[in-house]
Amino acid sequence: MDLNGRTAVVTGSTSGIGHAIASALAGAGAHVMLNGIEPRAEGEAVARALADNHGVDARYSGADMSRPDEATGLIDATVEAFGSVDIVVNNAGIQHTAPIESFPPGKWDAIRAIIWTPRSHTIRRAIPHMQQRGWGRVIDAHRRTGLVASVNKAAYVAAKHGLVGLTKVVALENAHRGITCNAICPGWVETPLIRPQIEHIAERDGISIDEAKVELRAPQAGPRGSSSEPGQIGSMAVYLCSDAAAQITGTSLSIDGGWTAQ
Ligand code: NAD
Repeated sequence: MDLNGRTAVVTGSTSGIGHAIASALAGAGAHVMLNGIEPRAEGEAVARALADNHGVDARYSGADMSRPDEATGLIDATVEAFGSVDIVVNNAGIQHTAPIESFPPGKWDAIRAIIWTPRSHTIRRAIPHMQQRGWGRVIDAHRRTGLVASVNKAAYVAAKHGLVGLTKVVALENAHRGITCNAICPGWVETPLIRPQIEHIAERDGISIDEAKVELRAPQAGPRGSSSEPGQIGSMAVYLCSDAAAQITGTSLSIDGGWTAQ
């Protein structure tokens, strides 16, 4: 897959799914702006490793996606560093689980601020650059909770469902301009994000961490029997950036071993 000469920005990409997507895009030849909330030295070390592994230019921005000015600033910094922004992957996210009646309002606001709001700021800032060049790819890293609900995740599910709508609108508004906008919806992916949920199950049921992992992903264990691999999400992102995927827009693609189909 040839993304040589393309430039990508991936929010929340020092770890987990975002890092896998950034690595896959770099592996296909794109220059990449990484982003996260780690200390600058740590983020820059991740960027150096990516550049060394793939022979591309990779930089790090510590822009906090919960701040609208920093979300738009991330796009500006990408254009300044690379001269353009061709691919935007909105991925940064946090999680909190609790029933709706005891969901802490502060956590609700934090999830909305980090998952929901920044998408509009990165996209609105990047789209004019893509329109000018007549080519662009916007990808939203969701979860299957963009398509179906899940108990104890009111804020997260509400945000992800709203973003499925945003994906469709951006796709329609830019369908004739060489720009596509899609969402990728994985099932469970073993990253630091889901560690608290695994630890909660282990403590609640008095079982080991490994047993808790099996229990957590049990609903996904039907057709495929395992969680989704970060690299599989990265490969899908690269495909969506290819010319072969030019007609795929406004969609939400599940990578969950058939979980959502059950
Ligand atoms: P992770 O904890 O491994 O990585 C989170 C990344 O987001 C890190 O790079 C972190 O620095 C960054 N981040 C956190 N807050 C930020 C902020 N305010 N500004 C900028 N960056 C910030 O998590 P992950 O599991 O890779 O999750 C990433 C995304 O994928 C989330 O949106 C999550 O909802 C989604 N997702 C996760 C799973 C899963 O099972 N792990 C499945 C599907 C979708």
